[in-house]
Amino acid sequence: MSTALPQDSALVLGTLRASINEIDQSILQLLARRGEVAREVGLAKRLSGLPLFDAKREHGHKDALVLQGKQLGLPGQAVRALYDVLARLGVAAQLPLSHEPSRPRLTPADSDEFRLARAEPGRPQTRVQVGEVEFGSGIFEVIAGPCAVESEAQIEAAADVCRAAGVRLMRGGCFKPRTSPHAFQGHGLAALDWLERAARRRGMAVVTEVLEPADAAPVAAKADMLQIGARNMQNAPLLRACARTGRPVLLKRGAGSSLRELLCAAEYLLAEGNSQVVLCERGIRTFETATRNTLDLSAVPSLRELTHLPVIVDPSHAAGRDEIVHALCRGAWGVGSDGVIVEMHPRREEALSDKRQALTPHQLAEITGDLQGQRVWQA
Ligand code: PEP
Ligand code: MN
Repeated sequence: MSTALPQDSALVLGTLRASINEIDQSILQLLARRGEVAREVGLAKRLSGLPLFDAKREHGHKDALVLQGKQLGLPGQAVRALYDVLARLGVAAQLPLSHEPSRPRLTPADSDEFRLARAEPGRPQTRVQVGEVEFGSGIFEVIAGPCAVESEAQIEAAADVCRAAGVRLMRGGCFKPRTSPHAFQGHGLAALDWLERAARRRGMAVVTEVLEPADAAPVAAKADMLQIGARNMQNAPLLRACARTGRPVLLKRGAGSSLRELLCAAEYLLAEGNSQVVLCERGIRTFETATRNTLDLSAVPSLRELTHLPVIVDPSHAAGRDEIVHALCRGAWGVGSDGVIVEMHPRREEALSDKRQALTPHQLAEITGDLQGQRVWQA
């Protein structure tokens, strides 16, 4: 016996099925939209410290839907079952995604001090472009170069080493903030000319420290990124001057500064309208004498919770000696840093500053071979 329908009925059935399909597709779209909203609800709850599941609200809402369903002729049992599915999907959507900032440790009132720098629901992670490098893109970056630009020949040799190691952003101090006024202070703008030429010829961008507000503009004319050193983290006129150049800024944490103070310093830059800020943990002062400073690796995941700005680590100034720099670079990657900045000297025995912590060309190549271009690890 044939199961074929008469032609008219087949036509009608086809139309009806097409309508059902359309309705189902609309339901799927609504479910997807519901998931998006639930994700935002989850983020808002985490930021304000509320639990993901609010039993009172869920039950009240479910009862109201069952009642409404009845008015539309839908069986209560079916609405209940449907709601259970929706609730399950909703809770799953509220769980944090790995790239989202988690709940800040500071209360909203505290973080108001750095309201531009703080992580907030719906505020994307900042990406900072410097030459070919994009901090915050999820790629681990190794910045390298000598502590100080000592001569044209030294920086040319250093640039060769960096380029061969795959470095894309080169460092080198032209104005050196030294503990003693009798120590080498750097060759200033002349050194910047050498550094810029050496790096550009090899396709690398340049990051260098600015010590005085008056130097911000001339340095910004040649460098791709301005560094504000640990000693100057809270120097408001310098922060403002560097921000106003519009260049990306690398802001290092003071050796005696809290994360709150670091974020307030970053706020000075953001408040000038410069959003291109990368934070740098470089070790803090403790009772420990085995290292020059104590590398506070917990600063990295803590800053991830607190701010949308990229974070890198300087293991060289933290360690104060080359032997443990590679291990600390791995640690920086392991806690989710966007990269590291390390010091390398082509002939370290001749270094005029921070000789003890300078990597050899070979040590630098080992570090970049291990970590440059890796995916940033995210909790
Ligand atoms: C530097 O990077 O050259 C430097 C002086 O570092 P810090 O400001 O962290 O001491
Ligand atoms: Mn140094």
